[in-house]
Amino acid sequence: MPLDRFGRDIDYLRISVIDACNLRCTYCMPLSGARFLPREELLTPKEFGRVVQAAVAVGFRKFRLTGGEPTLRRDLTDIIREVKSVPGAGELSMTTNGILLPELAEELSAAGLDRINLHLDTLNEKRLQQVMRRHDIEKAWAGIEAAERAGMTPLKINTVVVRGENDEDVVELAGLTVDRPWHVRFIELMPLGSGREAEYSRDKFVGNPESQERIELALGALEPIVNAHASDESRNFRVPGGKGVVGFISPVSAPFCDACNRLRLTAEGQFHLCLLKNDRLDVRKALRESDDLDEVKNILLRAVGAKPVGHELRDGRSNTVLSMHQIGG
Ligand code: SAM
Ligand code: SF4
Repeated sequence: MPLDRFGRDIDYLRISVIDACNLRCTYCMPLSGARFLPREELLTPKEFGRVVQAAVAVGFRKFRLTGGEPTLRRDLTDIIREVKSVPGAGELSMTTNGILLPELAEELSAAGLDRINLHLDTLNEKRLQQVMRRHDIEKAWAGIEAAERAGMTPLKINTVVVRGENDEDVVELAGLTVDRPWHVRFIELMPLGSGREAEYSRDKFVGNPESQERIELALGALEPIVNAHASDESRNFRVPGGKGVVGFISPVSAPFCDACNRLRLTAEGQFHLCLLKNDRLDVRKALRESDDLDEVKNILLRAVGAKPVGHELRDGRSNTVLSMHQIGG
């Protein structure tokens, strides 16, 4: 396993396959005017496959596809096949808003996709429109059902909590785990991007202790579950008598940088070293100039070696000018 200079085992690569999206979540993208990378700048399925080959060779063991919205890539099944054909690549999961899953879930599962994390901020139709924009609750349920039908389980639902918009809806979302074996995880809003998105994220922040208190008042004291892996960023609980899991991912109120095991690859082929910083290392040039996998491995190991100690958020100010859809969430 590649160790970074702070002794962390970095074995998890999150791969963004596209920066475009069919939604416009308030904290991630402006409603209009977002600019996306031209197609030729995006890595091809074969190029993603070669990065994964190099990553497995140096000790990476876990991979996730993300974006932007990964299901917008027409060649997503080719990407999945390329990644899964690398011996030792292990489990492959994907983060998605789920809108296109009714059409795609079976195909993606047949190509080798093992699990889905589905992003849904509220079950309330009106507030869903406010936070995720261009979404509706029927589409969300259809996506969830499609993922389950295709056997991509355990299903994990990710909710970003936003003050004044969906902060009271955490109770209803956590309540889904009473009768269903789902994981519902609450993510603290992070100040990403420049301008409006960064300011919005800072002003609308809700700490997970507050969300937990709200859930416990309504559903009873949550029972802690010991995490199977130290690097699992989610603190997990069960609602008393519940079948599923309620998780809290708290990068702002309780940063988990000491246990960070991940690196990100952006859709245009740059290793992004820490979510909330700008440090990057290009690998696309090496991929396009030669077939030599050793050079890709070298760049990857340099990226691991250069990983910063942590995100060092101060006063809730963003350290990066990029938004989540540009980095890969
Ligand atoms: N489109 C897919 C989705 O929404 O799941 C995949 C990409 S999205 C960028 C990945 C995750 O990033 C989502 O769960 C989203 O809520 C989260 N995200 C985006 N901006 C964020 C922010 N400012 N703070 C915290 N999470 C954020
Ligand atoms: Fe799209 Fe995901 Fe960003 Fe929402 S969070 S705008 S679904 S990329």
